[in-house]
Amino acid sequence: MRKKLVAGNWKMHGNLLDNDTLLNALNKDIAVLGNEANCAVCVPYPYLATVQSKLQGTNIKWGAQNVSQHEKGAYTGEVSAVMLNDFNCTYVIVGHSERRMLYGESNQVVAEKYLTAQKHKLVPILCVGETLEQRDSDTTEQIIEEQVNAVLALAGVDSLSNAVIAYEPVWAIGTGKTATPQQAQDIHHFIRQGIAKQNAEVAAGVTVLYGGSVKANNAAELFAMPDIDGGLIGGASLIADDFIAICKAAHS
Ligand code: PEP
Repeated sequence: MRKKLVAGNWKMHGNLLDNDTLLNALNKDIAVLGNEANCAVCVPYPYLATVQSKLQGTNIKWGAQNVSQHEKGAYTGEVSAVMLNDFNCTYVIVGHSERRMLYGESNQVVAEKYLTAQKHKLVPILCVGETLEQRDSDTTEQIIEEQVNAVLALAGVDSLSNAVIAYEPVWAIGTGKTATPQQAQDIHHFIRQGIAKQNAEVAAGVTVLYGGSVKANNAAELFAMPDIDGGLIGGASLIADDFIAICKAAHS
């Protein structure tokens, strides 16, 4: 039985004051939900220290939104996995479509980031997903297969025992357009089947999240699908009531 996970992706939002208010609300309402599902927030680097001190000892985990594929060195502006360890991060997002599209991260670079994260005991949340153009030209499955296979080629299928995959159709991110539960389920099933060709046990155990305009009013029906194990939440993770409601949907 896979445990559901709801992970917030704050992106480049927040400030010390607003974060404090948001985290106080999450602490109060998520603490009482128990441990039937996992909840986490992936926050901008400068806030990791305060997030760590607010969330340690609670049932909310935390992480970052990106990591360098390199261990250390002359990489101005980058942050290493070892640095994330200093703040006891559990998760790190790799290959978010905004990183792939705005910062030119290739499948190979994403795979290297995934590998480096795991080497340092971080759980990578590997984002995959197609653009609208790719969906319209019927290449969704091919694109996702290439994105997943790049990671499997470098890190091996067993690595998925300590990783999370997030299926995030690019056309649904921040647009208010959500994939229907069936559309999402079909791709989640496709991802799991692809992994099963290499290792059925790993495929059955891997957490596959859906991301793309998940809100308080659509989370429950998405999470009810058999291959959807929770969500990666952008906009709604910044609104305490909405994020709490989504976490509750994962617990029911
Ligand atoms: C995301 O950025 O990962 C995301 C899913 O965003 P939103 O929920 O705002 O669509």
